[in-house]
Amino acid sequence: MKRPLIRVPLPGPRAKKIIQRDRELLSPSFTRSYPLVAHRGKGMWIEDPDGNVFLDFTAGIAVTATGHCHPDVVRAIRKQAGMLLHMSGTDFYYEAQVRLAEKLAALAPGKFKKRVFFTNSGAEAVEAAFKLARYKTKREKMISFFGAFHGRTFGALSLTGSKVRQKENFGPLVPGVTHVGYGYCYRCPYHLVYPDCGIDCVAYIEHTLFKKTVPPEEVAALIVEPIQGEGGYVVPPPGYHQKLRALTQKYGILLIADEVQSGMGRTGKMFAIEHWGVEPDIIVAAKGIASGLPLGAMITRADLMDWEPGSHANTFGGNPVACAAALQTIDLLEKRLLKNASETGDYLKSKLNELSRKFLLIGDVRGIGLMIGIELVRNRETQEPAPHERDQIIQRAFEKGLLLLGCGESGIRFCPPLGVTKQNVDVAMEILEECLRNRKRVTRHEKQDKKSQ
Ligand code: PLP
Repeated sequence: MKRPLIRVPLPGPRAKKIIQRDRELLSPSFTRSYPLVAHRGKGMWIEDPDGNVFLDFTAGIAVTATGHCHPDVVRAIRKQAGMLLHMSGTDFYYEAQVRLAEKLAALAPGKFKKRVFFTNSGAEAVEAAFKLARYKTKREKMISFFGAFHGRTFGALSLTGSKVRQKENFGPLVPGVTHVGYGYCYRCPYHLVYPDCGIDCVAYIEHTLFKKTVPPEEVAALIVEPIQGEGGYVVPPPGYHQKLRALTQKYGILLIADEVQSGMGRTGKMFAIEHWGVEPDIIVAAKGIASGLPLGAMITRADLMDWEPGSHANTFGGNPVACAAALQTIDLLEKRLLKNASETGDYLKSKLNELSRKFLLIGDVRGIGLMIGIELVRNRETQEPAPHERDQIIQRAFEKGLLLLGCGESGIRFCPPLGVTKQNVDVAMEILEECLRNRKRVTRHEKQDKKSQ
């Protein structure tokens, strides 16, 4: 069974030098949680410049869907790179972009005709959706959610409701955005319990927001992540997205599904919203779409995208090499990886549930497919978040060769490449268990919690 290999204490001498040079020059605004320097990648594995080999359960923040440097994707990139690197879809035509648009239009939920706009990133796709919603409806306001992450450009940042650090000192942001509580049942923003609540977090928008502060006829769109990503890998309850769909339809509000993290096969379906059987008006995708090449897409109902020539465009969106990588990525998803995401995702979740029975620190296990999160708490009764313990575990896992990422206040996300095997999962769980077991300090809360069980 292949395992991580740590040859020298981390970071090793070569990695250290790169980190020092990086610190001199690159923006200090990044949030690197541990000093991994990636030198090369293959499948599930990342090697650093000192020859240490890591098992990657981050996929570069849910991006390398087909695994690092999948040979078919690399071949498609090489072939396209030798033919045409760039010509700009803003002013000219080329086939790679059309082929990918045809594919995405066929895959996105809804039997209606669709149109596609390509971007370079998730945030840029969100910007496009925000602009199109205003343009089409001639309405100004937007509804978004606490815990949502939609990106860091001004429009996308205005919709984001994840961490105050992401917003402080950047104001004024785009006006007209109202945030409401998400369907986060583990920590219900309205302190209700599903299913008795009747999903009041959606009804709240109508019975409170629309009556007291936000006239519904002024709302252009509601943007929602089918499963919140950065905000903590939060899966809303059954019926949630259907209710949002019905509410938005009732008031002529567009429904935008931000599938930047949850889409492109991560949950075992091409788009996560399919788990709820909902057809949004606009879908935005990026991250996993091209296995690591920068690409984003906005897919909409055809009748929505009737903006005038010159009203919106970009230079690099739909770059032919990125499109070739995306077409190959989708082919691999359809042939094998969607199924694997479902099956191995279930296996991973069952293993995490086993760990949660052994370790009180794990307060919640949730997710669909290979978009799985655990939430760490100091006390299961009070659900006090355990961010320090979470950071410690992620750091220890790194030292043992397992790459993990945090999410939310005290969550850990598991978003490996979609070809991850059960053996990879077993290795990861073994390392995670060691990290949980060997935590130096058991908190007073945990001791009390243990006694009371
Ligand atoms: N939307 C969601 C749901 C995301 O998770 C992210 C990034 O994490 C974005 C939008 C922004 O994407 P990008 O970082 O490519 O701009």
